Amino acid sequence: MKKHNFSAGPSILDESVIKDAAAAVLNYAGTGLSILEVSHRGKEFTATMEEARRLMKELLDIPEGYEVLFLGGGASLQFAQVAMNLLKTKAAYVDSGTWANKAAKEAKLFGEVVSFSSKADNYVWYPKPWLTGEVPSDIDYLHLTSNNTVYGTELRYDPDVKVRLVGDMSSDIFTREVDIAKYDLIYGGAQKNIAPAGATFVIVRRDALGHVDRPLPTMLDYRTHVDKDSMYNTPPVFPVYVALQTMKWYKELGGVKVLEQMNLEKAAILYDEIDRNPLFRGTVNTEDRSIMNVCFVMSDAYQELEKEFYEFASARGFVSFKGHRSVGGFRASLYNAMPKSSVEYFVQTMKDFERKVAK
Ligand SMILES: *Cc1c(COP(=O)(O)O)cnc(C)c1O
Repeated sequence: MKKHNFSAGPSILDESVIKDAAAAVLNYAGTGLSILEVSHRGKEFTATMEEARRLMKELLDIPEGYEVLFLGGGASLQFAQVAMNLLKTKAAYVDSGTWANKAAKEAKLFGEVVSFSSKADNYVWYPKPWLTGEVPSDIDYLHLTSNNTVYGTELRYDPDVKVRLVGDMSSDIFTREVDIAKYDLIYGGAQKNIAPAGATFVIVRRDALGHVDRPLPTMLDYRTHVDKDSMYNTPPVFPVYVALQTMKWYKELGGVKVLEQMNLEKAAILYDEIDRNPLFRGTVNTEDRSIMNVCFVMSDAYQELEKEFYEFASARGFVSFKGHRSVGGFRASLYNAMPKSSVEYFVQTMKDFERKVAK
C-alpha cells in the first residue's frame, strides 16, 4: 500500500530525490565509489558543496554579503551559537512555541533577553510586538521562529522593524519568498524541507560577525566556517548531497514562488475540510495558521472518536499524523514534497469517516 508520510521531521522527501540519493549511495558522480565513503576533499564533493551553497543563494535570492553554510549540530545548537556570535548585551525573542522558547533559554546564557510570548494561551496565536510598537530599539537582534512546527502557527512575512532580525526557519524555508536583507542570520535543521537529518543550514551576513568580545570556540565561531567555505572540518556529506538534489528539484518546479502557491493550495484544501467537517476543529487562531504543519483535534462532542479516526486513516496508509504530545489530536505536515493528491486523499478519508460515524 502507498504510504502518505505526514511526519513533522525528519520528513517526506520527493521520490525522485530519494532515488537519486539511492543511486549515489551505490555510485557517486561516476566515481565507482559510494557517496558514503568518498573524501569530502575530493573534487566531486567539493563541487557538490559549492553547488549546494550557490543554488541556495539563487533560489532564495540571497543578496551579496551573505554566506551559506552547512553545519552539524541541528537547529538546537544554533540556539546557542547564534547568541554566542551575535548577542552583545540584549536581544528580543518572540516566544511563539516550544522551539522559540528553547532558543530564548540558550540566549539567556549570553545576555539579557526580552520575550514576547503566547505561552499562557498554549501558543495558539503568534505574538507580533512590531504591531504594537513594543520592539525595543536597543537590542542586538529580534529572534523569530517563523513556523511553529509543534503548535501549527506561522508568520508568513518578514516584519518591518528598526532592528536586525534572526530567524529559525527550520520548517518553512523554501516555502515563501523571504526578504533576506532584513536578517543578520537565518538557520534551520535541514530535515524538514531539504534533506535527511544531519545538516543544518545557516545564512549569515558577513558584516554581522566579529562584534562580540567573548572568546568563541573555533567550531562555534561562524567565521571559521565562512573562511573555509563550509569545509573547515568534515561536513555532513550525505545530507548535503541530498540537499542539493532537493534544491535542483525545487528549481525544476519553478522555484520558491511556485512552491508557495502549491503549499497555499494544499493547506487550503485541508483547512477547508477541518472547518467544514463537524467532527474536527483546528487548534490555533485562524489568522496565524501554518501552511506547513496543520494541527487539529476531534470536536468536543466527538472526543471519544480520536483513536478510531487514527486507526481509520492509518489503515489507508497515512503515517505520522498524530499531534505532538504537548498538543494531542492530529498534525498533518504538508512540506514541499507532500503531493496535493495525498492531501486530497486525506480529506476524502475525513469525509468517509464522517459518513461512517453518521451511520
Ligand atoms: C525541528 C525544529 C528544531 C530542532 O531542530 P534540530 O535540528 O532537531 O535541533 C528547531 N526549530 C524548529 C522550528 C523546528 O521545527
